[in-house]
Amino acid sequence: MSTGPRPGRRVLVAGLGVSGAAAARALLAAGDEVLLTDAAEPAVLGELVGAGATWLGPVVTPPPGLDLVVTSPGWRPDHPLLVGAARTGVEVVGEPELAWRMRLPGPDGEPAPWYAVTGTNGKTTTVTMLEAVLLAGGRRAVAAGNVGRPLVEVVTAREPDGSPSFDAVAVELSSFQLHWSSTIAPAAAAVLNVADDHVDWHGSPEAYRDAKARVLALTPVAVADAGDPVASGLVRAHPHPVTVTLREPAPGQLGVRAGALVDRAFSEGPAGELLLEAGALQVAGPHNLTNALVAAALGRAAGVSPADVGRGLAGFRGGAHRNVLVATVDGVDFVDDSKATNPHAAAASLAGYPRVVWIAGGLLKGADVDQLVAQVAPRLAGVVLLGRDREQLARSLARHAPSVPRTVVPSGDHGAVVTGVTGGTGERVSAEDVMRQVVSAAARLARPGDTVLLAPAAASMDVFTDYGHRGRAFADAVRALG
Ligand code: ADP
Repeated sequence: MSTGPRPGRRVLVAGLGVSGAAAARALLAAGDEVLLTDAAEPAVLGELVGAGATWLGPVVTPPPGLDLVVTSPGWRPDHPLLVGAARTGVEVVGEPELAWRMRLPGPDGEPAPWYAVTGTNGKTTTVTMLEAVLLAGGRRAVAAGNVGRPLVEVVTAREPDGSPSFDAVAVELSSFQLHWSSTIAPAAAAVLNVADDHVDWHGSPEAYRDAKARVLALTPVAVADAGDPVASGLVRAHPHPVTVTLREPAPGQLGVRAGALVDRAFSEGPAGELLLEAGALQVAGPHNLTNALVAAALGRAAGVSPADVGRGLAGFRGGAHRNVLVATVDGVDFVDDSKATNPHAAAASLAGYPRVVWIAGGLLKGADVDQLVAQVAPRLAGVVLLGRDREQLARSLARHAPSVPRTVVPSGDHGAVVTGVTGGTGERVSAEDVMRQVVSAAARLARPGDTVLLAPAAASMDVFTDYGHRGRAFADAVRALG
């Protein structure tokens, strides 16, 4: 039998963002021939070419002799290069699928198991909660994928003695990544929820849902939020379904009993096991209770004890721009949930507060906001609208919440201009100026006891660089008020 080196494959990496660059590095280290393409020359090009990769420029037809294409989430599946590769029988995968195939075996010969999370909203929160749970359980765990480090880097990371650095991976997978995955078999996997998003990329809501469902195809344990009809529908047909509920759990569920999180899916005994008091969680809102229960389910599937699950969750502090209390000014709480970039997220966010001055608007990406506005109308003490699609929200508010006072701040009408947004009157104003106007308008509408909530239901790039910039501008404007 030949023991010689495996002849290197010829692999094209399409898109050189963080995960594409990591994929190229891992392939080069494995001895593959690596070709690179992207719409423009990326900053990382010098490093990769220096390490032996070949830059093709922005090609639209696959070069001859390819064995594999590794594509990036930013590339739509109808890109001519990807369509051309598929037509000529060349396999196209995403970086997570490549990582799955490159996992290092551990001391027992088995690679570190993956515990995977997908969903329209709550992925990053749940995966970082899961990482905390796995660490509390004594595992050498890491959160990776659509959050933190690229998977390909994590699964090939070694300690100085050559052993793999991690023995459990909490994996966040987006619908884009799942679209290009075919053999990933997580030890347990969860679909948090499925609401319309990214339909432009996938082509239809059905294709988006089918991509999410892929995470469950090859896993022995399928977890979902019982309160989400689509997600719970996806696990119903699975041989080992586990659902989470904010009510008293039935057998096979994790839920809430007398103010405590309880596991009746992975625990012995008719009453199940207590995980922790809900009040010990440091993140607000019912949606975060759901996220904690899903993280707990995956942790329990990984063999973490109920006490360690509780300890991990109790130590978890929320991520930046995700329901963060920035300050209380004159009895009004100012909360930054800039990460609420679609209506489904904003609905969950608003449900956490009884009386809200809501800051909304930006790029709605074609989403319908009528249902959201009708649902949250009873909680609204006032609304401040900003961003390009503010008028769509204003029309919806006029229909469903006509008596709620609202202020409209002209902004974002001319696309992605970061410093120098043109307002409705034609003058140039900065993104920070827009946010200062928004925050002072919100402060005027709020009474002591209210919450001013930045949960825009929209993407930020019409006025800000990204949701982080929007959240920082909000926090700065709030601090200036104080
Ligand atoms: P993702 O990684 O899926 O974007 P995040 O954990 O970053 O999710 O949360 C994004 C936003 O989605 C939060 O700021 C919050 O507004 C909302 N959210 C979080 N968890 C949930 C949930 N379980 N259901 C609905 N909305 C949620």
